[in-house]
Amino acid sequence: MIALEKMQPLVEEARFDTCTACGEGFHRQRAPYDRWIYPTKLPDGRTIRMLRILQTNACMYDCFYCNNRAGRPVRRHFLQPEELSKGFMEMVWRRDVVGLFLSSGIVGVDETQERLLETVEILRERYGFQGYIHLKIMPGASADLIERAMQLADRVSINLEAPTPEFLSRLAGRKRGEELWAGVRQIASLIGRDGIRADQTTQFVVGAAGESDFDILSAANRLYREYRLSRVYYSAFQPVPQTPLEEHPPTPLLREHRLYQADWLLRKYGFRFEELVFDGRGNLSYSLDPKLVWALHHPERFPIEINTAGYEELVRIPGIGPTTARRLLKARREGLRVGSLEDLRMLGARAGHAAPFILIDGKPMGRLHKAVQLSLVEGAEGEELDEALVAMFSSAVAGTNSRGYRERFRDFPDLGYPVQNPAERRRRPSVLIPLSDRSSLASTPRTSRLRRETKLKGCTTCSTGCAAGGCAR
Ligand code: SF4
Repeated sequence: MIALEKMQPLVEEARFDTCTACGEGFHRQRAPYDRWIYPTKLPDGRTIRMLRILQTNACMYDCFYCNNRAGRPVRRHFLQPEELSKGFMEMVWRRDVVGLFLSSGIVGVDETQERLLETVEILRERYGFQGYIHLKIMPGASADLIERAMQLADRVSINLEAPTPEFLSRLAGRKRGEELWAGVRQIASLIGRDGIRADQTTQFVVGAAGESDFDILSAANRLYREYRLSRVYYSAFQPVPQTPLEEHPPTPLLREHRLYQADWLLRKYGFRFEELVFDGRGNLSYSLDPKLVWALHHPERFPIEINTAGYEELVRIPGIGPTTARRLLKARREGLRVGSLEDLRMLGARAGHAAPFILIDGKPMGRLHKAVQLSLVEGAEGEELDEALVAMFSSAVAGTNSRGYRERFRDFPDLGYPVQNPAERRRRPSVLIPLSDRSSLASTPRTSRLRRETKLKGCTTCSTGCAAGGCAR
């Protein structure tokens, strides 16, 4: 219990070494004993509860954004490897946590790394803990210590903080970018070797060094392609009092969110970096997600017939992700076809987003605003581009409702995204239509086909949403 009491301040300090990539809707949770516990997504997709803690908050570096920088008047704490490992295991035995994220301020590079390693060795060898451990690598740590860390931990990371050494110099005067990248390179060279269990991630501080989204994502792209990183995390800069950057404005969380969306396109959707759309200042659109922006810039790729498109085409449609695309293909293999937007919704798609970009059995589901699309092609940028996109998207998806968009647009009331009352939304009852039924519909006269479709899945001739029969049109 003594160890748990000593851990408290270092758990609190560790919240500054964090990002909001734990997934939408997750929040830090208070466990018994008032400790901070973080939900974390594992590489296999599972989410676990993890203790995030520093070995010490004393540090010889003076990074301009950091709560624990040298010379800042905060009380310094230190945990011996014995204390930290014992305290963590008490939390594991009480089932508060199942994983550990272990970081540290730097008091001598190799000396600090050895302390971290000692803590993890006690956990693995004395307590037999085989759960998830994410271990920080200190900048400039010796090669043998890095290798040992990768044998013990499931994941290791060096925080690059900025996309290039030049930008890093505006954030952390004493850290050397070349040294950090050399560490990342060395870790990459060890991944997959005998006895190595760890993969690698890193983190960028977003918005404090004047870098653009292009700078950040091109560095991330290089890390994925050349250095085999599993994830890059983006942490919106938030000023800390009594630091050189205390007057610097905070970075909107929306920017961090857009970077994660673009990152997903690179990692999960098969987009090439060159396909991402940036404005003239090298930034992503704030107003619309990067996949939607890409789709709006490529009218030649749409509309896509939803019942014949392959996986690669499906995941390019706004509102349809890899999971929905796989479900759709599975349904097709089982002899089912999508008959309406409601069917798409049932498969997990954001049907309103997809509507202007798809055909269902040859029938368009929405319209794009040609005039605004032209203004995009003619090179509008910045706020002008945002407004054009919002205007176009509003007209394209009029009649759909998106709580997520309303929430994101709270920061941008001037853009005037139309807020629709969910109670006004009318749904058409629908089911996925078996292939055999659909093919028979194709040859029936229009009136009887309408009656048949109305019976099966609600009328498709208008958007009134009448449930069955009696269509006056
Ligand atoms: S190295 Fe920099 S970011 Fe890390 S604890 Fe020290 S001052 Fe903070």
